[in-house]
Amino acid sequence: MSMFKDIPVDVGVIYEGERIRRNDMQVELGGPSMKEKFELAKVKPLDEVEDGKITIIGPDIKDMKEGGVYPLGIIVEAAGASIDQALEGVIERRIHGYMNYIEGFMHLNQRYDIWIRLGKKAFQKGLNSFEHIGKVLNRLFKSELPIIEKVQITFISDPAKVAEFYPEAMQAYETRDAKARGLKDEDVDKFYGCALCQSFAPSHVCVITPQRYSNCGAISWFDGRASAQIDPKGPVFAIERGELVNAEKGEFSGVNETVKKRTLGEVNKVWLYTAFDHPHTSCGCFEAFYIPEVDGFGVVNRSFKGVTVNGLPFSTLADSTAGGRQVDGFHGMSIEYMRSKKFLAADGGWDRVVWLPKEVKERIKEFIPADIVDKIATEETAQNIDALKAFLKEKAHPIVATWTAEATPEAAPAEAQMEEGTMIPVATAATLPIMAGGFKIILKDAKIYAKKVIIRSMKSEKS
Ligand code: SF4
Repeated sequence: MSMFKDIPVDVGVIYEGERIRRNDMQVELGGPSMKEKFELAKVKPLDEVEDGKITIIGPDIKDMKEGGVYPLGIIVEAAGASIDQALEGVIERRIHGYMNYIEGFMHLNQRYDIWIRLGKKAFQKGLNSFEHIGKVLNRLFKSELPIIEKVQITFISDPAKVAEFYPEAMQAYETRDAKARGLKDEDVDKFYGCALCQSFAPSHVCVITPQRYSNCGAISWFDGRASAQIDPKGPVFAIERGELVNAEKGEFSGVNETVKKRTLGEVNKVWLYTAFDHPHTSCGCFEAFYIPEVDGFGVVNRSFKGVTVNGLPFSTLADSTAGGRQVDGFHGMSIEYMRSKKFLAADGGWDRVVWLPKEVKERIKEFIPADIVDKIATEETAQNIDALKAFLKEKAHPIVATWTAEATPEAAPAEAQMEEGTMIPVATAATLPIMAGGFKIILKDAKIYAKKVIIRSMKSEKS
């Protein structure tokens, strides 16, 4: 693109989805090992924004140690005669897309969870300053969203300054999210869809409703509406809600039709309020995962270190469901969805949640029903399934009543009751995509039998 002649690397949509592994990275910014990091968009009056101004507070990329990990705050301040604060969420989410257009630059996640890596090759080509990144963002914002007339950008890498601005960013997200609470799915005739993540999850479409926030937690129903209005050809689009097919599960005819069309028939049906049968496809940071031993849900977030109560880390759980798949019992979602009255409502909602990282529990405590909040275990009260069962019994968690009413989860496992040599399926799925050697093989209505299953952590390869 000629407008990027002064940028030392290529810039274009073909670099979206590029991954930079630890061994190939020059620096990491934000990410799981940095407690405080953020990106924030603010809409300001025209006379308060100096177009093209880039401010760097703290060390620039060229001053950072090779292989080092640093905190980062990004503030994008935009102005335009016909934009207002309703667009802040939309502008902010574009940071992710535009940064990923830069060759050798990887941006993951959003808001307080950003995880950025610059590759060594791009650094060696001269991409060694936030100035370059800021210039790319400035030009893309104005060309892709012409309604924006001026953009100034601040990069904060000084740890003390990141910590100083962090509460302000968190407050801004909360104010934005609170606006969308109160509106119900039944109150609107349009939902919104987002296909931004199809670059790495081809069969994923987020269905954004007033009561089901986008998976990334960055786009509310209001943001979706604003985005579809100002950029109708962009990644966010309106979905006619259509007929209510199943109120309990959250099935709408318009959602099914749109998802089918946008995934080229890969996903035909989405139930918005359940993690079973036809769950929303996954690509988010938070994961709800079914724990069969207690017939309940655990929830884990990307920044949770260590293993969850079922012995698996976030990365393994996320790998089980990411990429735009619908996997029974696994549910990628945003933290804001956990504040919704429709949160896994068809599965029992909060009465079905048995385990949460402490940090997440603290953040959403006021939204967890008062009679259940102390009955949900964390990593401090249950580190394995046996401890979890004991905790739930001691606290009289409502899930315990279902154990005795139905088959107790402590009953002998199915395998033990089977004759020696009998094979049970290790995987059953309506649609099971397998990636191998550059090919994608899709098995429909498959049952897979195996004498031995090896589950290997992908973490070391990915990070
Ligand atoms: S998670 Fe969903 S809403 Fe967020 S960018 Fe991806 S597709 Fe869009």
